Amino acid sequence: MSKDRRYSFEFFPTKTDAGHEKLLATARQLAGYNPDFFSCTYGAGGSTRDRTVNTVLQLESEVKVPAAPHLSCVGDSKDDLRGLLQQYQAAGIKRIVALRGDLPSGMGMASGELRYANDLVSFIREETGSHFHIEVAAYPEMHPQARNFEEDLVNFVRKANAGADSAITQYFFNADSYFYFVERVQKMGVNIPIVPGIMPITNYSKLARFSDACGAEIPRWIRKQLEAYGDDSASIQAFGEQVISDMCERLLQGGAPGLHFYTLNQADPSLAIWNNLQLPR
Ligand code: FAD
Repeated sequence: MSKDRRYSFEFFPTKTDAGHEKLLATARQLAGYNPDFFSCTYGAGGSTRDRTVNTVLQLESEVKVPAAPHLSCVGDSKDDLRGLLQQYQAAGIKRIVALRGDLPSGMGMASGELRYANDLVSFIREETGSHFHIEVAAYPEMHPQARNFEEDLVNFVRKANAGADSAITQYFFNADSYFYFVERVQKMGVNIPIVPGIMPITNYSKLARFSDACGAEIPRWIRKQLEAYGDDSASIQAFGEQVISDMCERLLQGGAPGLHFYTLNQADPSLAIWNNLQLPR
């Protein structure tokens, strides 16, 4: 893939065999676009531990695209994390997305020994040296639990200083928030690549629910337009594709070091944007 920009696709591990087969079919289709890597999410507290491991190993060995497991520390012991790191290292996995995670409701209080993602980054470095390329999360519109924007920036810098190699952002619909975030952390001495996380728009009610929970703002002009389409999913998708393609174009023109697509295990919405942007295959 491109030497100066990187492109990646994210999946979530599924509960059913049928869902898993669909994920693999999607991954095979996307593999034809020669992405730099695939990533696979991890249910905090280990709720998807085996499914994440199996999916990552299959993406790497069968679909033959470098695969990066997400790993979260909020409900896992150091022994659990060490075991996973050893398993991934033995399988030749080279990249990890290191997160604090959010425990699913009903799983009680966090029980992990590491509290924040910067602790996990330090732990991975202590255990495995420079083996893994470590990605961390970035929040151009502020993490929803942060006390304020400035503290969130400081906490992002902690992750870079602990040894993160690059970052992937939470999704956003306002390119200015991304540019502002990058500028601010660069002024704080952090120069790791910060890759925008891109969420294709396919369904308004799900997007609105999810955005509320993760603190991503849907600008009023987008929200109003999507609301007006009601059940007309073809119009929602066409409008969403245009809005996101335009934003990605602006991001890349403004110097974003690549794009990371939240696929939700579907190929077409991400590929529509990819093709509109005429990204390299
Ligand atoms: P942190 O960087 O630890 O930050 C969490 C909060 O604590 C922030 O408000 C921060 O300001 C504050 N903070 C951080 N460090 C400190 C410190 N040292 N002292 C005091 N305060 C601090 N969730 C999953 O469960 N599984 C996944 O696979 C997953 N994948 C994701 C992938 C991406 C690209 C992104 C952007 C998010 C993902 N998430 C995932 C969601 C993520 O786990 C949540 O947003 C979680 O609430 C925060 O994780 P973090 O790694 O950003 O945490």
